[in-house]
Amino acid sequence: MSRRKTGNNQYLKQRNQTVILDLIRVYKQKSKTELAELTGLSPTAVGVITSCLLKDGYIHEAGTGDSKGGRRPILLALKPHSYYAIGVDVDVMYAKILLVDITGNIIEEKTQSVPKNATAKLTIAQIEQGILQMLAQKNIRIQKVLGIGISIPGLVNHKNRQVVLAPNLGWHNVDVYAHMKQFSDIPIYIENEAMASAICENWVGLCQGVEHFICINIQSGIGAGIFVNGNIYRGVGGSAGEVGHIVVDETGPRCGCGNYGCLETLASTYHMVQEAKKRVRQGIVSCLNDVEALACISIETIVDAARAGDQAAYHILKEAARYLGIALSNMINTLNPSKIVIGKEFVKYADLVLEDVYNIVQAKTLHFPTSNVEIIASKIGDKASALGAAIIPLKVLFGR
Ligand SMILES: [Zn+2]
Repeated sequence: MSRRKTGNNQYLKQRNQTVILDLIRVYKQKSKTELAELTGLSPTAVGVITSCLLKDGYIHEAGTGDSKGGRRPILLALKPHSYYAIGVDVDVMYAKILLVDITGNIIEEKTQSVPKNATAKLTIAQIEQGILQMLAQKNIRIQKVLGIGISIPGLVNHKNRQVVLAPNLGWHNVDVYAHMKQFSDIPIYIENEAMASAICENWVGLCQGVEHFICINIQSGIGAGIFVNGNIYRGVGGSAGEVGHIVVDETGPRCGCGNYGCLETLASTYHMVQEAKKRVRQGIVSCLNDVEALACISIETIVDAARAGDQAAYHILKEAARYLGIALSNMINTLNPSKIVIGKEFVKYADLVLEDVYNIVQAKTLHFPTSNVEIIASKIGDKASALGAAIIPLKVLFGR
């Protein structure tokens, strides 16, 4: 859909096209008469708009509905393989790339490896290669791609498409768009990875229609995407959601930010793995001692050991959950959300510790906000940020 504004009439036509396209998305199938009733537009105007949408291939005729006296109405629906969007989740050693269709269904996914200590330029070039290969494999022309969303583990300026700072990637003031030479004609969107996950939960996950929620990602770092009144809350400089640096124990370990006892130093998967290695070195009785080498201990081996009844491994998970509960109680008292969704690596052990998290929250939070909040594990898992990034161009198309 052309986004040029050649005057008020053209703008209104485009606006109405967007509204109708979004209604068809929300309701899955609607007749022209129903669309006229929902929008207040005349049947003639709806006819003109839907003809354009049919001609451009965004929608198709998907059968007929029930008759209300006359002919059975033709139902219009989104045409799944008409247009596509791409989402990329950039991490230290890899980038997860997802191709979705206009309905948000995942068509293809791949993990593109990135050399250790690669420059931003090289990483982006590898991502471009991965995207081009994926499009070629699926025989999709580049003109059919609505946009590319890129999720970054760090502070981003989503307006000028710059990564301000991504410490784990070693990126500082990186102009991602300038490096994406192969896709200079396609809209590129940059988003923080936790905010991308929150967008995903809001569009297709557990927070659809939820106005006030927090989506927390637990992995080697910890961050949150916050929705207030149905919109992302970014704060004045775009750094809202850095909940990994809430201090939960002043006497705790030193954090990369220079402070002591940040949540990230006590509840991230990186911390849990370091803690497990420390205990093995100390000779504490645990089946983690049987892991081939210290370097092989991962969050998965800790979770497997805890599930097998290993008390030392279980204790590591429970301690991290306790600190998470303390941080959540601060967030709940401050923001009064109706839902908190915890995602990424947390979903691997959520069933083992969610009750502990909830008990700490109950004990440490004011009664009123606690009675209104639901704390749950994400069902989307490690794809959430890539999928959220892919959803950004779709949100633009549907005027959201
Ligand atoms: Zn910190």
